[in-house]
Amino acid sequence: GSTWDHVQQAPPDPIIGVTDGWRADPDPRKLNLGVGAYRTEEGKPYVLKAVREAEQQILADPAMNKEYLPISGNPEFNRLARTLALGLSSPAIQQNRVATVQALSGTGALRVGAEFLSTHLPSSFPRIVYLPSPTWGNHKSIFAKAGFQVREYRYFCAGTRGLDFVGMVADLKAAPPGSVLLLHACAHNPTGVDPSPEQWKQLLEVTSEGRLIPFFDMAYQGFASGDLDADAASVRLFVDAGLELVLGQSFAKNMGLYGERAGALSVVCKSKDVATRVESQLKLVIRPMYSNPPMHGAAIAARVMGDPKLNELWKEELRGMADRIKLMRKVLYDQLVARNVPGDWSFVLKQIGMFSFTGMTRPQCELLVSKWHVHLTLDGRISMAGLSATTAPYLAEAIADVIK
Ligand code: PMP
Repeated sequence: GSTWDHVQQAPPDPIIGVTDGWRADPDPRKLNLGVGAYRTEEGKPYVLKAVREAEQQILADPAMNKEYLPISGNPEFNRLARTLALGLSSPAIQQNRVATVQALSGTGALRVGAEFLSTHLPSSFPRIVYLPSPTWGNHKSIFAKAGFQVREYRYFCAGTRGLDFVGMVADLKAAPPGSVLLLHACAHNPTGVDPSPEQWKQLLEVTSEGRLIPFFDMAYQGFASGDLDADAASVRLFVDAGLELVLGQSFAKNMGLYGERAGALSVVCKSKDVATRVESQLKLVIRPMYSNPPMHGAAIAARVMGDPKLNELWKEELRGMADRIKLMRKVLYDQLVARNVPGDWSFVLKQIGMFSFTGMTRPQCELLVSKWHVHLTLDGRISMAGLSATTAPYLAEAIADVIK
């Protein structure tokens, strides 16, 4: 017998499993709308020109070597990443009171951030985190692994396919002081529903009055509107109001660096002195987890952010990706309307970012997979980035069939 005879088969990951199903599907019409990655109009992965150019510069650089990075990662990358998020004129940047460490993309930032909070929140604070309902599936496991009790706040309203703002505020007002509040900075995954600027102001008040600890997960800066500054408005609102907060950044989507695992974790503190001590403790979280982060992705991102020419090219390509996704919303919406599919589908246009949360039921989604070879997560989330001008009409036809 094996030592591991008692080990049970784990269920496949609900999101990664979609791509496995799509791969195994022999039908030529098959569509993969589960994947959270940008695709070109031809359905192909896209490596940004700015990224290719940065890579070439790195390879040609005689100063390049493969030594270990510091525990906290590439210092130039860290500086540029936090500045990208908060803005150069941010009081926190100007006063040098942000502790930043490189992270294994957005997931790693969340994991290290959760571990830091769990260890270093004042002992009188509860270890409770509030997550939106629904949220990215991994959030729960990440915070649970770090010892948090996971609670949800109302977020998505199935009736309007918009924000349940009243429910959200009521749940946050009932949260014990010192609880961690996880907020999606923009382009909420999976719903595509974000608070309005006015609602963000109210959320700032609720957070600050309830003495909650904001943890912004920013996986889609620039990917929502096409504009890096506009997409960071929620985080900047909180920082500019003087709040201390935690921020996770990912360069997976906005720079297309998915597999490079380029990300950052920042803790915005009241003073430079506090930030210095916080950074020293972040390193103690990282060291026994993975010692130090990988260098290539951060080197690329640092060049793309730091070189004025590459930066301009990146912003142009980012706008291009965001615009193509917005165009797919329009094409899908028009096709649904043209087919007289029952219901108000204007949410397809209103929702923000890579995903649309359609409200289709599990049986409807299952039929999309089995009959139409449209692969998606069974919560009805579709990746708009996986559509093209030719596949959007096919999807509309499939949706019209399964919901009638
Ligand atoms: N947070 C959210 C909300 C996400 O959607 C994702 C990616 N799907 C992540 C974090 C983490 O992504 P990564 O680790 O690839 O940066």
